[in-house]
Amino acid sequence: MLSQVRTGLEARLRDEVDGEVHFDAFTRGRYATDASQYQIMPAGVVVPRTMQAAARACALAREAGIPVTARGGGTSQSGQTINRGLVVDGSKHLRRILELDVANRRCTVEPGIVLDDLNRQLKPHGLWFPVDVSTASRATIGGMVGNNSCGGRSLRYGTTRDNVTSIQAVLADGTPMHFGEVETDPASINDPRRRDLTEQLLAIGMREADEVAARFPKVQRRVGGYNLDALDPRRGSVNLAHILVGSEGTLAYSTAVELKLSPLLGRRAVGVCHFGSFRAAMQAAQHLVTLGPIAIELVDATMILRAFSIPARSCGHRASTIAACCAMHPVT
Ligand SMILES: Cc1cc2nc3c(=O)[nH]c(=O)nc-3n(C[C@H](O)[C@H](O)[C@H](O)COP(=O)(O)OP(=O)(O)OC[C@H]3O[C@@H](n4cnc5c(N)ncnc54)[C@H](O)[C@@H]3O)c2cc1C
Repeated sequence: MLSQVRTGLEARLRDEVDGEVHFDAFTRGRYATDASQYQIMPAGVVVPRTMQAAARACALAREAGIPVTARGGGTSQSGQTINRGLVVDGSKHLRRILELDVANRRCTVEPGIVLDDLNRQLKPHGLWFPVDVSTASRATIGGMVGNNSCGGRSLRYGTTRDNVTSIQAVLADGTPMHFGEVETDPASINDPRRRDLTEQLLAIGMREADEVAARFPKVQRRVGGYNLDALDPRRGSVNLAHILVGSEGTLAYSTAVELKLSPLLGRRAVGVCHFGSFRAAMQAAQHLVTLGPIAIELVDATMILRAFSIPARSCGHRASTIAACCAMHPVT
């Protein structure tokens, strides 16, 4: 029965979707893994060439009763991009900048654009998207939105959520929907579906506000679970895009993401502190942040010793930095 459903879906995808359709064991096997340690064979894979094709693939999967899992670079580490259903990979073709507003430091992109590619195109304009994840050469904006990625400079720039202003998406039932700043009076929204969704989300925000205030950890890089705190109308303005950020593609498929951009960093300086114990380094962090650094990194002795074991190609400056950090390792 299941194989009949799969065959039917494959045939319809080939007929109706502008994109690559893969149901062979080899390709499915490639998409059965990501950067996590899990492995699940998907029913099939679609690599859409256009946003309409991505939306159509989602619709056909829905009609066949097969779940959809969106995939960007596949560098998530908790198995978020693997599933038994249909994998929709936006990273190959859906990677354009749709709009760039240099004066207002905004751009709108397709979800499959890779962070480094985006920043390369923004550089001549003196701008960048400042959520600098370590996997920037693979990570896509859709994936970063999906898991609310954070970069090494999140101290200054915050998480992906802090840098997303609106998202155009397709809901599970196929409805295209705009998620952004909520109007002062949601009852005035003309589109009945958007009005209804907005009112329902705000009601959830209101209902859960006290619980969220009491239980959500008050830390800057809190990226687990749905961002229910974003729905609390008592916070002032509510941006519904922020409920999609971090939702791991479980609420909607993002088709276009509007980003807040920052001016490129100018001159930078690095300070290196060394500590006699791990605890001392951790205790110093609270004082170091008051100096307004854009990043604080901990490099422990394991990393340093491993770096030393690489045949030397580094300059003298790097060697002295490494030596200074070495003392961060707990002294046992
Ligand atoms: C060595 C290593 C270092 C890392 N360093 C960092 C780091 O510094 N900071 C950090 O935050 N993370 C880090 N990560 C985790 C990961 O690389 C990043 O979070 C990255 O930004 C994820 O992007 P991606 O394109 O690979 O997303 P994917 O893994 O492809 O997807 C992430 C989530 O987004 C969803 N998704 C993708 N596209 C869409 C779409 N169009 N619509 C809806 N949902 C969608 C997926 O279903 C999934 O739930 C690291 C991972 C590794 C392996």
